[in-house]
Amino acid sequence: MVLTLGIYYITPWIRWDRGPALPDQAVLVDIAGRRFFFFMIEIWPHEFYFVAGLLIMAGLGLFLFTSAMGRVWCGYACPQTVWTDLFILVERWIEGDRNARIRLQRSRWTGEKIRKRALKWTVWLGIGLATGGAWIFYFTDAPGLLRDLFALEAHPVAWVTMLILTLTTFVFGGFMREQICIYACPWPRIQAAMMDEETITIAYRDWRGEPRGKAGAEGTGDCIDCKACVNVCPMGIDIRDGQQLACITCGLCIDACDDIMGKIGKPRGLIDYLALTDETREREGKAPIPAWRHVLRPRTLLYTALWAGVGIALVVALFLRSDIDVSVTPVRNPTYVTLSDGTIRNTYDIRLRNMEGEPRRFTFSVGEPGYGLAIEGADLPEVEVPANETAHIRLYLSAAAGSALARATRSDLTLWIEGAATTAGPAGGSRVSKDTVFNGKGG
Ligand code: SF4
Ligand code: SF4
Repeated sequence: MVLTLGIYYITPWIRWDRGPALPDQAVLVDIAGRRFFFFMIEIWPHEFYFVAGLLIMAGLGLFLFTSAMGRVWCGYACPQTVWTDLFILVERWIEGDRNARIRLQRSRWTGEKIRKRALKWTVWLGIGLATGGAWIFYFTDAPGLLRDLFALEAHPVAWVTMLILTLTTFVFGGFMREQICIYACPWPRIQAAMMDEETITIAYRDWRGEPRGKAGAEGTGDCIDCKACVNVCPMGIDIRDGQQLACITCGLCIDACDDIMGKIGKPRGLIDYLALTDETREREGKAPIPAWRHVLRPRTLLYTALWAGVGIALVVALFLRSDIDVSVTPVRNPTYVTLSDGTIRNTYDIRLRNMEGEPRRFTFSVGEPGYGLAIEGADLPEVEVPANETAHIRLYLSAAAGSALARATRSDLTLWIEGAATTAGPAGGSRVSKDTVFNGKGG
């Protein structure tokens, strides 16, 4: 809980220096600027495949962990579990242990009950507000937005988002709790396909615990039917009934039962992390298979290989990506014009994005000889694009009257765009090329 909540609440406040023209927030979904910043990485809209790749990795990672260790995501990292645990912690501080809470729930509305309930709901609402507040900080400069919120000058979208997340956190974490996991979340249904009998999950050693009965009674197993495991279960299930869809593998029943076993002088592990094949082996008196052999099996190795493959591809793509984004579109209506001196001229619409945090000069040239190159409104074949902006440029290529290029119907050519060096970019600048065509008179 500390780790996941810490990451969520602290991340928007981490600063990252990218120069004066770019935001200094380490993790920022900049919707207005149409970019995603993640520490030293900057993802532009045309690089959305990075986000898609990360989502695929997240999915494969979930498959991997579920097939190896059951629903560890649900039990340890799912926001619904983490926030529900936090709400239960607050409930315990204010209303007492489980028995005290049941007594309070069943009692009449006295001054004491009103005071405790009001305090609990107020703290829950505060947590909900902090949750919604932290979320919106991911989408704009966090310190600036915090100032705007206190000055009541924040954008209405920020207020509405905060309100929705405050209420959903309050209701989901405070009142609906396990109902969300059992009835609203599709993951319990899907995870069954990821697990098999080798998956390490939570299980009850019924060969050891049954028949259950009072401690020390003749002919009974280790389970004294104290129901401590049932009482701590956030899903309200009894793991002694066997594997169940609702179990989120949180392990609270293990801790509760181990405490009881310690008190009655029995070995721990009546409820334990266990593969179902091991349960069968133990019942037959055989030793369980080492945990690493349950984890390292063809299914998990396949998921690991796929996960690593996507990850390596993303890292390679990250290092190979160009810092110049350009598109070249020949104007087709008309495909060419004949000037008064017989020169054949083609027009191209260029969209050139400066992906650096400072103004940058770009120079155009053609790879093949015989072309004249001009840019509308410029004396030289150069343009300067402001930091983080996209320039729309009209570029002209011409071939002298009677030349082979002018007489050909169509000639392939390569347009080169060279970006000057910047303080953040590669030393000596960088260049990219685009293949396009030149249309002549033909015949
Ligand atoms: S906590 Fe252990 S001893 Fe108590 S009911 Fe559950 S399994 Fe049995
Ligand atoms: S049965 Fe145990 S592991 Fe499963 S949800 Fe309940 S307490 Fe958590």
